[in-house]
Amino acid sequence: MRVELLDILRCPYCGGTLTLDASEWHQQERDEIQDGILACHCCTFPVIAGIPVMHLAEPVTAAVDHVRAGRPGLAREAMCAIEQAQRFDEIVSAPDSTYRDAVAALVPELEAAYFLHRFSDPTFVVAHALARAVAATVLLHGGRALDVCGGSGHLTRSLMDLSSPPPVVADLYFAKLWLARRFTAPGCEAVCCDANGPLPFARNAFRYAMCADAFMYIWTKRQLVGEMMRVINDGRQGGAVLISHAHNELRWSPSHGQPLTPTGYRQLFETIAPRVFAESELLNDVVTGGPLDLSRRDGDDRLDADPALVLIATEDAEVFAPHALEPAVGPSSELRLNPLYAAESEGDRVRLRLQFPSAHYAEEFSGCREYLPETIVVAQRDLEALADGRITDEVAALARLRVLLDLPRRYY
Ligand SMILES: [Zn+2]
Repeated sequence: MRVELLDILRCPYCGGTLTLDASEWHQQERDEIQDGILACHCCTFPVIAGIPVMHLAEPVTAAVDHVRAGRPGLAREAMCAIEQAQRFDEIVSAPDSTYRDAVAALVPELEAAYFLHRFSDPTFVVAHALARAVAATVLLHGGRALDVCGGSGHLTRSLMDLSSPPPVVADLYFAKLWLARRFTAPGCEAVCCDANGPLPFARNAFRYAMCADAFMYIWTKRQLVGEMMRVINDGRQGGAVLISHAHNELRWSPSHGQPLTPTGYRQLFETIAPRVFAESELLNDVVTGGPLDLSRRDGDDRLDADPALVLIATEDAEVFAPHALEPAVGPSSELRLNPLYAAESEGDRVRLRLQFPSAHYAEEFSGCREYLPETIVVAQRDLEALADGRITDEVAALARLRVLLDLPRRYY
């Protein structure tokens, strides 16, 4: 973590500011704190591998002891629940390891499949477009973005060039945050904290706060909305809160969680009435080429019928407008084959076939079939152009279909 992160970090329990306890063992290089102990008025929190851990749930106590004793490697392994000595360095942080290797070692199998294939799943596709549209609008003149329950940082990556200073990804699971900083969104800040408690940030630390795909698993929903609003100063500086893919209590979904009705979600907000959208309508906007129309007003019948909802709270009227989608290939895109496709060579052509990693994945993310082709045959020379980093018309067309994706380096 950069030292300047201390300006916005607060103890979740006493609200006090935090300082690096220089009397304890620590590693700091210029303005980057790697490992050490932070202190507030009421307790202490460890910084491990550049990630402040702002909660006290196990295994934090053991990890703190390791930091104090100058054993940062053991602290990191304790936080990642890795029991075999050396496993972290051998498998996870070896110089040639990939995101796929590290996810397989650190994350349970079902969630690992979700993470690896995240960049083309329907909830990501719509949340990415929403984040790009809403964050670009409210961060136009600067300001920082927060990705709450951000996991291993897929959507944090969507915020990297919009947020200044760099975005913060917050999650309860240290291993996921380590993956975000290492692979998915290098350069972001990561804060390990519990979204069921007060967020460890100062009022007005951000202009944009989002929570995607996770809100229905939060028990203290009213508090989390209050906290997301507090960190954007209740929108008084023109900020926005976005909650995407919140399951609808009126409709069954796989991994249902503890969702609310559309009215229930609205009533969580006390300071700004949110606009509520049927997610499937927004997804349809995105997969049919846009614009993403946030000027729409979905009626109660439409909201009640949709399995998932999107909520946006802001006083910036520019947000509630049609937003043109960005081109599938940007100036810094690094296109690679979507990991949901298996390739079979057929002479000078290659057949790409959509393959889900499991029946569970196929059920939960069946919406992929609405925009990912079952099979597609491409010329070998187009894939060779891609390997050389040349974006031909054919390569750009495959990117528009999401058969090719802009993926982080060393993703799989
Ligand atoms: Zn405190």
